Amino acid sequence: MNSELQNLGTIQIPHPIIHEDECKACGRCVAACPKKVLRISTRFNNKGMTPVEYIGEGCIGCGICFYNCPEPYALEVQKK
Ligand code: SF4
Ligand code: SF4
Repeated sequence: MNSELQNLGTIQIPHPIIHEDECKACGRCVAACPKKVLRISTRFNNKGMTPVEYIGEGCIGCGICFYNCPEPYALEVQKK
């Protein structure tokens, strides 16, 4: 099977990946997300902060959350 045909069978779903212990719960990504699919959780991380969480659907992979996050390792966006 050539690569074009293989890609037809691949569903790519963008989503944020949150590294909870790096998040300081500033809320910048929540405010910046155009799809409003991020929220501050009610859990505590190892810094005693309530890290952000993804609601589980609706991300368009724009990366705006990543570019608004002041913590270099708290948030990344995967396209699949
Ligand atoms: S990539 Fe865009 S749509 Fe997805 S969570 Fe981040 S800001 Fe929201
Ligand atoms: S912008 Fe970064 S540090 Fe702030 S709540 Fe979002 S992931 Fe956490």
